[in-house]
Amino acid sequence: MIEESQVLGLVESFVKAWKKSKHEDPYYTHRYVKSVELFRDIEIHAKGLFPEKLIGKNAPSETDEELEWRKLAYAAQTKAPWSRLENAVGSIYHGVDVSTEDEDFARYLVEDYPEYTGLKEWFAEVALPAKAQDANAVVYVTLTRPPESDVEFVEPVARIANSPQVIDLSRNYALLLVAMDAPVKRGRDMAYEGLVFSAFDEVNEWRITQVGRKEDYVFEASIYYNHNLNHIPVYQLKGKPVVEHGELIWESLFQNVTPYLDKVAVTSSTLDAVIRRTGFPIRAYYDEDCDAEGCTDGWVLNAEGHRDKCNVCKGTGKKAFTPFTDYVHQKPTGMMQDSKVDFPGLTYISPDNAPRSSWMPT
Ligand SMILES: [Zn+2]
Repeated sequence: MIEESQVLGLVESFVKAWKKSKHEDPYYTHRYVKSVELFRDIEIHAKGLFPEKLIGKNAPSETDEELEWRKLAYAAQTKAPWSRLENAVGSIYHGVDVSTEDEDFARYLVEDYPEYTGLKEWFAEVALPAKAQDANAVVYVTLTRPPESDVEFVEPVARIANSPQVIDLSRNYALLLVAMDAPVKRGRDMAYEGLVFSAFDEVNEWRITQVGRKEDYVFEASIYYNHNLNHIPVYQLKGKPVVEHGELIWESLFQNVTPYLDKVAVTSSTLDAVIRRTGFPIRAYYDEDCDAEGCTDGWVLNAEGHRDKCNVCKGTGKKAFTPFTDYVHQKPTGMMQDSKVDFPGLTYISPDNAPRSSWMPT
């Protein structure tokens, strides 16, 4: 059982790691770091996030500008197959029944369950997809809000804490980061960004909430509710067990597909870059000043005597061509009539199809 005098001490070393991490995943225990890594490996595909680390590894000498372009153009190709997998995994649970002897409680689980149609639906839509993604995640049982009196009917709910939230799991207690929305002071303003932890033992759920100024990391603790279950209501989702440095870590049953999904993500982003670079032949032409009426270095005087951007050259002061515009030469006149025009003023160069140097390992 957690004693009141110990509660605040539980979060100390994690908060220290958190402060150091500056928006990255904190470097905490081996179990924590490894679980978060496994979770992030799948998360990029499950959520369709831009795989910045993967791209960085595969194209180490690309410029920041090129990386930025990849980010903007990124279309997650691996998200749809992953959500098909989630649907398939979730559908296993349809047809399974949740039953209890207590009629009131049975009605609560099947009809009145908060936020979802029922606990069963929650398993199909949330718990099983979460298990496919993050085997080190936990289900914990908490209340939607603490009861105001002993006779009040409480609403127990199951919630998921993903690996980045699962701080410590020991024989005597479980420590989870359950929210990041406690009111704290940031400068003169209030910001809802404070850390909120739950510590569970076999009788209580404690809440450890950040207070005061955001950068001070001061916490207050109190009992959230007294569950008296005689066990810790926090359960790992589990998958394939792997022992590393003497610690048990779970791998998702689908962890092995990540190298294939990674390859699709990197290759499709690279293919987009190749199309952009070499899909059109490279045009070479002399830089010429914009010849729109009144345009000087991209600016045109308007009727009020103010300067507006030239809407032909968009303020660049230079002639511009899209791949679809023609390059038109002025017909020679007067004395020049018989002289030859330097032709072509515009030429196409077939693109270099050798591997780009930026993709080669450094
Ligand atoms: Zn112009």
